[in-house]
Amino acid sequence: MTDLTVIPATNAALPDTPMMLQHWIGGAWLDSADGATSGRCSPAHGMTVSVAARGGVAETEAAIAAARACFDAGTWSRGSGKDRATLLLKVADLIDRDRAALARQEVLESGKPITQAKAEIEGAADLWRYAAALARTLHGDSHNTLGPDMLGLVLKEPVGVVALIAPWNFPFLIVSQKLPFALAAGCSAVIKPSEMTPGTTVMLGRLLQEAGLPDGVVNIVLGYGDPVGETLSKDPRVDMVSFTGSTGVGKRITAAASATLKKVSLELGGKNPQVVFPDADLDQAADAIAFGVYFNAGECCNSGSRIIVHEDVAEALTEKLVSLSRRVPFGEPLDPRTQVGAIISPEHLEKIDAYVQEAKAAGARLALGGAALEVGGLGAQFYQPTIVTGVRPDMPIACEEVFGPVVSVLTFRTPEEAIKLANGAAYGLSAGVWSSDVSTCLDFARRVQAGTVWTNTWMDGFAELPFGGFKQSGQGRELGRYGIEEFLEVKTVQMRIGATRGAWVA
Ligand code: NAD
Repeated sequence: MTDLTVIPATNAALPDTPMMLQHWIGGAWLDSADGATSGRCSPAHGMTVSVAARGGVAETEAAIAAARACFDAGTWSRGSGKDRATLLLKVADLIDRDRAALARQEVLESGKPITQAKAEIEGAADLWRYAAALARTLHGDSHNTLGPDMLGLVLKEPVGVVALIAPWNFPFLIVSQKLPFALAAGCSAVIKPSEMTPGTTVMLGRLLQEAGLPDGVVNIVLGYGDPVGETLSKDPRVDMVSFTGSTGVGKRITAAASATLKKVSLELGGKNPQVVFPDADLDQAADAIAFGVYFNAGECCNSGSRIIVHEDVAEALTEKLVSLSRRVPFGEPLDPRTQVGAIISPEHLEKIDAYVQEAKAAGARLALGGAALEVGGLGAQFYQPTIVTGVRPDMPIACEEVFGPVVSVLTFRTPEEAIKLANGAAYGLSAGVWSSDVSTCLDFARRVQAGTVWTNTWMDGFAELPFGGFKQSGQGRELGRYGIEEFLEVKTVQMRIGATRGAWVA
């Protein structure tokens, strides 16, 4: 028996046969030359839901060659902003049309709840529309103040062939944080989705084809980091790698890319603090903390899993959080009532649990949870909502990415101490502050080392606002105007327009 809110298996029909997925190279849908495939099991339902071609060096090189040839031919790279925008808007409409099927495949491969998958697909369609606006408004600069004989132009050009490497936690959203911006800039792309969640990227490829994207502009290679991601990172015909994933793999990509000095943009992990001052609205803070740590089962770069609370209100906040956590529905991801689904893999579940057990052994206390969760009719690839108190800043659970529904509670006495704790991790992705005093919030926002700061809220997101990390959370930015700038080169053109230049040789 459990006093948690658990949603058992639903009667929703599961697919009779797995979705079959092929590479998309130069406009053709292809199996791997050696016939290799890999199957994906639904984390919640334990059945194979997709079987994907498993790419090797040959498929990756063929995709790079197709993207390179297309870019150099100018088919897309020299097209007008109007044409690019028209296509991006069409894709957004097709995503909307197919949102139910896309969301369902995302649930089956990732284990996330259906309502959150739907919201993810809708959010992605919005990014395609936003990028279309950028395609129309993209422009360079001119310098008319260089004297009567000179005019300077600053041109923005597409960076070239870009490799887009994506993780499993928000497969469709993260590809949509990259691809429409790269296309708006005029780039060609080779996409490598995570081996665990390839389905919706392949579905997106089909939509791009339906929308009329010329062959070779976008290519998709399915498979593992080694060899697909490694080959993309090393190949001299690739001009840029845009990667979202773990900090460890980000470092490997940077090392592999260094031989060709290609541009690398990185969206990496986080260990994001939420600092709660004594004058905060504790009900609001507790609800946002529950959202921040249980959303996507905590498998979220923005997971607000490091709570730094003033010691005067620590007990009250923890009590509220425990009570809310018992009410959050965990379980069957296909049931619309569920807010927290399954954990991506048995290995990852073990990793989450190891952090919790290690913290316990080191003297931390469990206010709730701390074990796998058995869900009626579905098995136990779920993890209980878990609140760990008495955490010290040097414990791995306090400074490493757990990537599960686990929150660590640390306490502070002075604002200085709070800032020191907040900035005490190697990461710097996002941070939050809770206080009714706007000066306290602003002071924190200006001093915390994080790419995004939320004050009295958590994890709101807008296409207009840039997103990315400080320190080991990454380099570069996605979204907003920065989202297209990442995929652009800057070219300076200096034009003599009046008198001829004076002779240098007398
Ligand atoms: P991961 O780093 O294991 O894998 C990400 C992608 O890289 C996958 O497609 C994988 O196949 C590929 N890959 C693996 N080894 C590679 C290599 N040597 N060369 C090239 N590619 C390689 O990450 P994950 O487990 O899929 O995702 C979780 C991680 O992603 C977490 O650390 C999370 O914080 C991070 N993430 C960050 C953001 C952000 O915007 N900052 C967003 C989502 C997830």
